[in-house]
Amino acid sequence: EVRLRFAPSPTGFIHIGSIRTALYNYLYARRNNGKFILRIEDTDQTRFVEGAIENLIKSLNWAGIEIDEGVCFDDNGNIIQKGEYGPYIQSERLSIYKKYINELIEKGYAYYCFCSKERLEKVREEQKVKGLIPRYDGLCRSISLEEARKRIANGEEYVIRLKLPHNKDIKFHDLVRGDIVMNTDDLDDQVLMKSDGFPTYHLAVVVDDHLMKITHIIRGEEWLASTPKHVYLYEAFGWESPQYVHLPVVLNKDRKKLSKRQGDVSVEDFRKSGYLPEGLVNYLALVGWSPEGNEEILSMEEMIKQFSFERVAKTGGVFDKDKLDWVNGHYIRSSSIKRITDLSIPYLIEANYITKEDVKNRYDWIETIVETVQESLSTIKDIVDKTKIFFEDKVTLEGEEVLEVLKGDQVHVLFDAFEAELEDIDEIDKEFAKGIMKKVQKKTGIKGKNLYMPIRIALTGNMHGPELVNIIYILGKDKITDRIKYIKE
Ligand code: GLU
Repeated sequence: EVRLRFAPSPTGFIHIGSIRTALYNYLYARRNNGKFILRIEDTDQTRFVEGAIENLIKSLNWAGIEIDEGVCFDDNGNIIQKGEYGPYIQSERLSIYKKYINELIEKGYAYYCFCSKERLEKVREEQKVKGLIPRYDGLCRSISLEEARKRIANGEEYVIRLKLPHNKDIKFHDLVRGDIVMNTDDLDDQVLMKSDGFPTYHLAVVVDDHLMKITHIIRGEEWLASTPKHVYLYEAFGWESPQYVHLPVVLNKDRKKLSKRQGDVSVEDFRKSGYLPEGLVNYLALVGWSPEGNEEILSMEEMIKQFSFERVAKTGGVFDKDKLDWVNGHYIRSSSIKRITDLSIPYLIEANYITKEDVKNRYDWIETIVETVQESLSTIKDIVDKTKIFFEDKVTLEGEEVLEVLKGDQVHVLFDAFEAELEDIDEIDKEFAKGIMKKVQKKTGIKGKNLYMPIRIALTGNMHGPELVNIIYILGKDKITDRIKYIKE
């Protein structure tokens, strides 16, 4: 059975590069009928953020990435842990790491280091001056275990470091990048256990991936340089190493890492900007992976069917917002009107276009508004801009041509007849909206363009736009009366 994990640190939000990592783990797990596990890597207590775990699970759930094992919600939305390899939150596994670090010490693969911050700083400075890559100089490697234990008993502060052999090639295979070799002389004696008794990422990740029987590690390429240390740790423990895939980063158009300064970067940002989960997930999958054929619109099921490491890119994928908008627009168009309406309502309320009362009393009317512009939306948030014409106090007359139309000699007759039709009714219903133009035509004898265009312009200021019947129904009697009056003046 394949077992894959997504192992984020709870920093408060998921970067879209990170959700893509989660997605590839999930796709591969599902493709092979395996398990997808959520583990929380919170060994850096200085970075703890309240509510972060909850946000992580919410974002995954929203994206449609189902957690089989590990940290998740129960039916009531409480955080629970399920599965037989728990706990799945690293800060709850401290005694486990202690046991394994002791094993490394006993076997001579790790050593106590008593160097002060000041000394480490000094060593680093000296190395920098010499043009070397700063790294620990190994001073404490020669301290015997007995002496180290005495010093600890005396209350001295210490960390535990990995004792890398000199000049040893460490080889591993990346399923996307191929064979990779790094020499230990280019690696640091990594701290494995900090002075506060917490493991570092490097120890915890190896111990947990082993104990949780993880078969494939798919993670960002920023971890590639750490992998040799991990591979060495597997060797030290006498464990079999999982398989690795390091994913290229998600880049912006300037081929730099996508960062907060350029706008939306977290899943939550994209949700708030009105992207549908299917749209975001579908598009993100394509940043760094390509399906066999040319089809770019793929549901989760289709992606699961097609996902393979062979088609994962070796170089950074560029995040193209226009393409994301295109994919997202596709999903908006193919969604039910009910769904898009419900998603649009908060935006319409926030724009003060509609009220909560409207939602209760005139849901049909709101649905018509949304239906009228659904085809043109790239994001749900676009609804505000696209429906502005229905809610403005005054229409803005756009362009010379529009003014030309309003100068036509029958225009006043037309407007009077249109107004007259409204006089006897309280409010415009759909039936009425459908019939009014016919009635005006019969009364005035005005037909075709001469009939429709001036009315359209009076109601929207524009020669183009949505279906006139919808415009009439959406605007309602009062707004239409105002607009016609305004145009006549
Ligand atoms: N905790 C690491 C992160 O935040 C996980 C890296 C890995 O997958 O090994 O990205």
